[in-house]
Amino acid sequence: MLKFGRDDTIYKCSFCSKPDTQVNRLIAGPNGVYICDNCIKLCSEILDNDEKDESFVDAEKLPKPKSICETLDQYIIGQDEAKKTLSVAVYNHYKRLGQKTTKKSDVEIQKSNILMIGPTGSGKTLIAQTLAKILNVPFAIVDANSLTEAGYVGEDVEDVLVSLLQSANNDVIRAERGIVYIDEIDKIARKPGMTRDISGEGVQQALLKILEGSVVNVPVPGSHRQQLSEVVPINTKNILFICGGAFNGLDKVIEERTKGGQLGFGAKVESDSEKDISKTLKEVLPDDLLKDGLIPEFVGRLPIIVTFDALDENALVDILTKPKNALVKQYQKLMEMDGAKLVFEDDALKLIAREAIQRKTGARGLRSILERIMRNVMFEVPSVSGKTVCTITKEDVLHNRPPKLRADSRKSAS
Ligand code: ADP
Repeated sequence: MLKFGRDDTIYKCSFCSKPDTQVNRLIAGPNGVYICDNCIKLCSEILDNDEKDESFVDAEKLPKPKSICETLDQYIIGQDEAKKTLSVAVYNHYKRLGQKTTKKSDVEIQKSNILMIGPTGSGKTLIAQTLAKILNVPFAIVDANSLTEAGYVGEDVEDVLVSLLQSANNDVIRAERGIVYIDEIDKIARKPGMTRDISGEGVQQALLKILEGSVVNVPVPGSHRQQLSEVVPINTKNILFICGGAFNGLDKVIEERTKGGQLGFGAKVESDSEKDISKTLKEVLPDDLLKDGLIPEFVGRLPIIVTFDALDENALVDILTKPKNALVKQYQKLMEMDGAKLVFEDDALKLIAREAIQRKTGARGLRSILERIMRNVMFEVPSVSGKTVCTITKEDVLHNRPPKLRADSRKSAS
């Protein structure tokens, strides 16, 4: 028989296990179940969030593809086709989330995850990041190299969702609308001659589950929900997954398909310039990716394929100077704060771009080259009294010599 009153029996909340002495109210349910006032509050919060969920994706407020593309233009140089395709793809994705299906017969729009193919440092990550910013949704990046199947040393595929949850400040509802970028996806391709487990196929299988949409229990360190349980279920159905990779050698697979008949003796020797490779990659078909080691189910989950061009010298010079946060603008701002005007001669910029091309890391190499050039300037300028002008010339870049400073003859604005 159930005893009431304060005797030896300890009544506990069935959710957080706190005894009645540590809570204000403990309400009894049937069959010896209890809930405390704290847990009732938490449950109420969760239900409130569910209601907010309805209004989170407002199709009316969603920026249109043209406007998304225009914002991308402010940050990303070139890659016009990719910007257009991605603007439409993310617009449709979030429009789909705003879709209210009332009748069972309503058409349900399926999710379309995205695959980006293109050389290192061509802007794949930057585009994914910028899209998340434009749409104001949480964003997480994971390197496919670090992923392993559950039970192996490395990051579990599910850990991807932990970063997303963190980026959403532990708000599950927001995380379930986020964007996950999986970099170096080509590194989990099946490698011939290896066992299934270490060939990457197992990781593809594991990723497939979350790409398709499933409910995954994700640990929430430090979250107040920890009081209810240490894990929180996240539904991946509406998370947009963007995968990216360089897919070195994929151009050869495509060439074999498109020019198969011409290969052999007497065939035209194809030049391997980066421009040619980018052109070939534009003809990619899902079948080519299968030959390159991705499994059919995985490719099937990435219906939108976007290719990125290799960046040439002019594009790299533009990247140095034109985007909103262009590197040159950033250094100019830094110098301005110390009373110095920083000028780069056109030839110097071209030389920097050329050096980046030689490093074969796309625009990624620009920062370290500039950092090397600017090191001496940033060391000297803060100690110089009065306004100065620092002009970086071609020779400074070529011979790696410290740029000269001279007094600024312009009248001070103040
Ligand atoms: P990827 O993911 O293709 O390897 P990233 O997007 O990480 O390359 O590029 C590295 C950095 O190079 C970016 O943070 C950005 O500063 C610069 N960058 C690369 N491509 C572009 C581009 N098309 N427009 C502007 N900046 C770019």
